[in-house]
Amino acid sequence: AYDPGHDVAGMRERTQWLVELGSNENPYGPSPVARAAVLDALHLMHRYPDPRGARLKAALSNRHGVEPERILLGNGSHELLMQFAQVFAGPGADVVYSQYGFAVFALAAGASGATCRVAAALAPDATMPLGHDVEALLRAITPSTRLVYIANPNNPTGTWLDRDSLARFVDAVPADVILVVDEAYGELADAHNYASALTLTKSRPNLVVTRTFSKAYALAGVRCGYAIAAEGLVAVMERVRESFNVNAFALAACEAALADEAHLAWCRERNAEQRSALTTALRQRGIAVLPSQTNFVLAHFGERTGAIEAALVERGVVLRPMAGYGLPDYSRITIGTADENRRLLAALDEVFP
Ligand code: PLP
Repeated sequence: AYDPGHDVAGMRERTQWLVELGSNENPYGPSPVARAAVLDALHLMHRYPDPRGARLKAALSNRHGVEPERILLGNGSHELLMQFAQVFAGPGADVVYSQYGFAVFALAAGASGATCRVAAALAPDATMPLGHDVEALLRAITPSTRLVYIANPNNPTGTWLDRDSLARFVDAVPADVILVVDEAYGELADAHNYASALTLTKSRPNLVVTRTFSKAYALAGVRCGYAIAAEGLVAVMERVRESFNVNAFALAACEAALADEAHLAWCRERNAEQRSALTTALRQRGIAVLPSQTNFVLAHFGERTGAIEAALVERGVVLRPMAGYGLPDYSRITIGTADENRRLLAALDEVFP
């Protein structure tokens, strides 16, 4: 059996009291090979990083079977999501995204000066509660629309667009509108009907897929994400990219992490196992939980959500309040380790209902 050999337990000791389930981080930590690569890179911190990120692009090119010219590296995928709106939208343009879509889409559109057009999400009792409504998204597109964002799977709902709906959506978005499919949690999705949009980028010059090393690869702190799109689109983005936007430690860590498939599989398995166990445990307590393909679940606590979140904080358990998303009766819970989830449930049993 795979054993990462590093101190998952030691990491836990440093945060022993606090169970941090608010930021969708990977609680198992990065590949030990990635850590070693960062330590090694420390010796060269007086040098600038490779401005092209050539080695990491070569590794990604191998992994995904796409030419390096179709890969764009970012200081986290957040940087790229912001830049797409700066480059392709702006005043006079519309940007479309879904209600309960990832918060950065609204920030990016707003910062660019574009007009935000928010498509209503599916109803709470739909098959995919609060998920993306493909028809509503298509209806929201106007002749002024330059950019559409969707996250698949989505944050904060955890829901996903099935393979057929995604393909239909990609086909239906007009060719002069850029469609960004944010797959930050893509590596953690294992549903039979989930599919990445990566292969579709080959034939769709307006399609961009973004990924990150922050979630499944547990490298949120070093900041690195990437986009895959048509060569021409990547070339435009390269012109506005800051030369050294990805630092030397991120380049080293991500290249090493990509090569450690056993660690990725180990994190995926544990996350899936705990996602299922936590969902069952919450539902057994009468708490409605949305289906999730990510490393978090959206739980419905009802009217007392705020009081429950506050009582959990007093017990050292931090969840993410959802009032800012227009979902005040829900909390987003990052899936922790088995131990962390036990502590969450024990604290919850003291405060709920
Ligand atoms: N996209 C989604 C859907 C996310 O949930 C996150 C982070 O939580 C990001 C993108 C940004 O990730 P990063 O900037 O760390 O790559």
